[in-house]
Amino acid sequence: MFGLMQDRPLMISSIIKYAARNHARTEIVSKNVDGSIHRTNYAGLERRARQLVAVLQSLGIKDFDRVGTLAWNGFRHLELYYAVSGMQAICHTINPRLAARDISFIVNDAADQLLFAETSFTALIETIAPTVTATVRAVVFLCDRAEMPDIKLPDNMALLCYEDLMAAASDAYVWPEFDERNAASLCYTSGTTGNPKGVLYSHRSTLMHAMAVNTADVFGLRAIDRALPVVPMFHVNAWGTPYSCPAVGAAMVMPGRHLDGPSLTKLMNDERVTMTAGVPTVWLGLLNHLRSSGERLETLKRMVVGGSACPPAIIDAFDREYGIKIDHAWGMSETSPLGTYTSPQPETQGLTGEASLRHRSKQGRGIFGIDMKITNDAGEALPWDGVAQGNLKVRGAWVASAYWGQEPGSACDAEGWFTTGDVATIDANGVMEITDRSKDVIKSGGEWISSIALENIAMSHPDVAEAAIIGAKHPKWDERPLLIVVPKPGKEIDPQSLIAFYAGKVAKWSLPDDVVVVEELPHTATGKVHKLTLRQKFADHLVKAAPYRTFRPYGIICSKFRALESDRLILNRF
Ligand code: AMP
Repeated sequence: MFGLMQDRPLMISSIIKYAARNHARTEIVSKNVDGSIHRTNYAGLERRARQLVAVLQSLGIKDFDRVGTLAWNGFRHLELYYAVSGMQAICHTINPRLAARDISFIVNDAADQLLFAETSFTALIETIAPTVTATVRAVVFLCDRAEMPDIKLPDNMALLCYEDLMAAASDAYVWPEFDERNAASLCYTSGTTGNPKGVLYSHRSTLMHAMAVNTADVFGLRAIDRALPVVPMFHVNAWGTPYSCPAVGAAMVMPGRHLDGPSLTKLMNDERVTMTAGVPTVWLGLLNHLRSSGERLETLKRMVVGGSACPPAIIDAFDREYGIKIDHAWGMSETSPLGTYTSPQPETQGLTGEASLRHRSKQGRGIFGIDMKITNDAGEALPWDGVAQGNLKVRGAWVASAYWGQEPGSACDAEGWFTTGDVATIDANGVMEITDRSKDVIKSGGEWISSIALENIAMSHPDVAEAAIIGAKHPKWDERPLLIVVPKPGKEIDPQSLIAFYAGKVAKWSLPDDVVVVEELPHTATGKVHKLTLRQKFADHLVKAAPYRTFRPYGIICSKFRALESDRLILNRF
């Protein structure tokens, strides 16, 4: 017997309809490509999204067609999110920081019909346009007529101006209802090993995720909040903020491409931002700026960090020096992305000092709706004792069941568990801690050494700006930890004293064998340290050079990583 409750489909359009009705005048502030500020509100966003549907229909977009976006966080990108999904087409957000050949692959694989691009990506569009003519019929630049770039597209690809099209479009569209399981948006993984793979979110998964994200122990956003997502709308839907903010009527402050410390500080203070979310490298840049300028963040109360492990030193610095709480979150493209979140429990609420910092540096408890387990290599479940490390597996209503173009269920085992590729512990309170990506864990003489734990220690050294640990080949132990560090400006790193800094903090057998000093670390298109490149460069380091610990103080190697398209690297972080 079914319950006798209404069976209303969970539609993405219902979020923007709700916000337009109940939070009509709540602001959406966007910093444009040229640095000027644009202001609209939820009523304006909903109306323009309906106009945009008329534009999309006039350009021939039909049910489930893919519409690609190459755009920053801003009001026009929000309009695309709601118009494309709301009309039952698929909004395909593309990460412009990927190498051009990956972007061409992604556009062709998704068979995008149109590309909506920011003018700052004109050169990129010029590069990829000839490679995507099989499906892309037009490129629409997200600007008005006066800002249209001077660009030559292939003959069969139209060049269009967003605001021209919008000016001529009616807003009479009525949002339809359809099956909530229908596809709504598509985002490709970064593909650091092999080709990127598409994750296809549904209306249902997106709404379930937004509702979970808005619970008090997760983002806990409220109508009085003003949220600034630094995390980009071009990767994993800006951690769901374009949906969770309007679902509670929180104002949105969109930074566009201006993600450096001074720009973020000004925007946060000018626009009275209360909550923000981004990857650790962005917060490191912001921290450095605040320290050097003496500026403060006047209204900011909370920062969410995720995407890679946040060094405790960053969490501690914002807390003690600026009174801002950092919440650590874990997730991935395949989990929409939020899977776990650090929030206090009765058992951890009273923790102070080091113990509190230790707790807040873990990735957190599973959010309601996400099941987690850790298993050994034989697939057997390991205990939640905070000690056993295993392969992290998840399942839930916003976890991928298959990649784009593959059979439903093909990304999971028979019981629906998705293998994340992360190695983790889970303690008796259900708090999960990532110790590594499974391909990054250091297997030394049969023991597993966590690269994240060793990196966090290096990051707490006063002279270290950034640190990465890789497993370097070793004749006796198979692999040993090698520490690669970037010094803070004006500082020099003495390898010997840096290794001595580890004393008493980790077991002696897990100390790094050596230190390499570099000018900067390579990063992926999603802001993570590109360990594959580091391994390619330094895997033989301990074999070639006798480690400092056994023989001598080791000479400093300075190496600068260049932005190599072939390696899919980026150096300008976000
Ligand atoms: P992506 O699909 O690009 O969002 O990357 C997902 C991966 O980022 C995860 O599988 C983790 O390896 C890593 N990751 C995300 N959040 C965290 C975190 N808080 N701590 C450590 N690793 C993280």
